[in-house]
Amino acid sequence: MAPSQRCPLCRQTFFCGRGHVYSRKHQRQLKEALERLLPQVEAARKAIRAAQVERYVPEHDRCCWCLCCGREVRKHLSHGNLTVLHGGLLEHLASPEHKKATNRFWWENKAEFQMKEKFLISSQDYARFKKSMVKGLDSYEEKEDEVIKEMAAQIREVEHSRQELVRSVLEVGFPRRSQSSIQIHLIPGSPRSSISPTSSSKRSHGLHASSAQLEFP
Ligand SMILES: [Zn+2]
Ligand SMILES: [Zn+2]
Repeated sequence: MAPSQRCPLCRQTFFCGRGHVYSRKHQRQLKEALERLLPQVEAARKAIRAAQVERYVPEHDRCCWCLCCGREVRKHLSHGNLTVLHGGLLEHLASPEHKKATNRFWWENKAEFQMKEKFLISSQDYARFKKSMVKGLDSYEEKEDEVIKEMAAQIREVEHSRQELVRSVLEVGFPRRSQSSIQIHLIPGSPRSSISPTSSSKRSHGLHASSAQLEFP
């Protein structure tokens, strides 16, 4: 009797030797597992010509399961506060280690030969990706510079308006208040009704002391 073997794809122990991988169940499990990985590989392949660089967030540490190697692989490539999206997976898919494991996986599982290419990244494509990564980093820096300039302008704007406010309170605020009170309480027909804005003294407005007391408690 053939020794029992455990199939990681079907998650079951079988006794029929190598015949298991040809079974309908195993082929279905294999197809489904490959279809789960494929969209991630395709998304990574799209990044070859247009590498995207983003500010690092913890979400960028996410991994994906490489079926061929039987291990977790980092999806993105992070360094310092920057992340190159899909960089981790592309690096893995282009590695000789992954190629070797894929060849073995395809042979062991009797997977469809035409499908294999979809899970490999050629060294030429990886070189292309590295070039587009450099471009991505450059344009990220330009974008960051723009953001920094905008922020600086905003800070200056806020600082300017704050200074304006302080100035208006300290220098203009008090005389303005007395002027508006004066407009209400001026004695009608008084020749001093056209007061120059620089005169802020109550006495010079010709007001009665009693009304001045009411205005400025
Ligand atoms: Zn199986
Ligand atoms: Zn792999």
